[in-house]
Amino acid sequence: MKDDVAAFKRRYGHAPALAVVIVGRDAPSIVYLEQILRSCRNVGIGGQLVEIPGRVSAAALRARIRELNDDPHVHGIIVQMPLPRRIPLSAVLDTLDPDKDIDGIHPRNAGLLTLGYDGFLPTTAHAAVEILKRSGIELTGRRAVVIGRSNVVGKPAAILLLREHATVTVCHSRTRDLASVVRSAEIVVVAAGKPGLVTGQMLKRGAVVVDVGINVVGDRIVGDVDMDSARPVASAITPVPGGVGPVTNALLLTHLLRAAEAQAQEARVGRPPPLRSVASSR
Ligand code: NAD
Repeated sequence: MKDDVAAFKRRYGHAPALAVVIVGRDAPSIVYLEQILRSCRNVGIGGQLVEIPGRVSAAALRARIRELNDDPHVHGIIVQMPLPRRIPLSAVLDTLDPDKDIDGIHPRNAGLLTLGYDGFLPTTAHAAVEILKRSGIELTGRRAVVIGRSNVVGKPAAILLLREHATVTVCHSRTRDLASVVRSAEIVVVAAGKPGLVTGQMLKRGAVVVDVGINVVGDRIVGDVDMDSARPVASAITPVPGGVGPVTNALLLTHLLRAAEAQAQEARVGRPPPLRSVASSR
């Protein structure tokens, strides 16, 4: 990233910059966002934490996001979730400029993902699948089970696995007999937010497991997989903490750089880069 950011600065004369928005004071979220901003600084990316009081109205939040959309010195925007209950998610989703939506939450980016175009991917789902690819795990034709169907993790992870030609089953809170579905899987991606949901007894021998869950249990952070029972059965498994989380943060910066590149190109040539189709539906 350092080299890529330096090359970007040489080419365009400015640094890429990120805005991270948080609505209301939530100490752990602020620690997390400051960590992202520190990673940005370490590679030469600019960043600002935009703290918005928790009592803000939806209209005022929209107005603040529009200001960031219009700010030529901000190339990517992420909004920390969850929002205060009074504020509908749509206040962020339909206001955010899709060209600055580096975490792929805008319906335009979700649509591009679904139709196989190269938009911004939801970063955590991207990280879960990128870990598999970079670890040399064969995905084509293999049976993958994704546990969780949220718009930010489970659903996009399933679509990305499809893109890699896996045969994908999606499980969720209403799935019957989760254990038998999981037992059929060669690859398991779990993003449910339930500690200990997946145990070694549920896994096929040699399964590859990506644990996306982040749960606070007592004073520890654990994933959704019961490590003690799963580790001897799985052929590969991601730890929590230290697995999907850091890869997510690193990929987020690559998304930001891509957004900054596209915006700089658009400023030069007067039109956005063309859409690219990257997935087969055959
Ligand atoms: P979410 O609550 O929006 O979705 C959870 C999903 O899990 C739902 O679709 C639900 O149907 C399913 N589920 C819940 N209980 C289940 C059960 N018993 N059996 C089968 N499915 C069940 O959560 P999310 O935002 O998708 O996040 C999922 C997890 O990933 C959380 O632990 C979250 O903290 C973590 N997360 C990690 C990162 C990271 O960078 N590593 C980023 C985002 C979220």
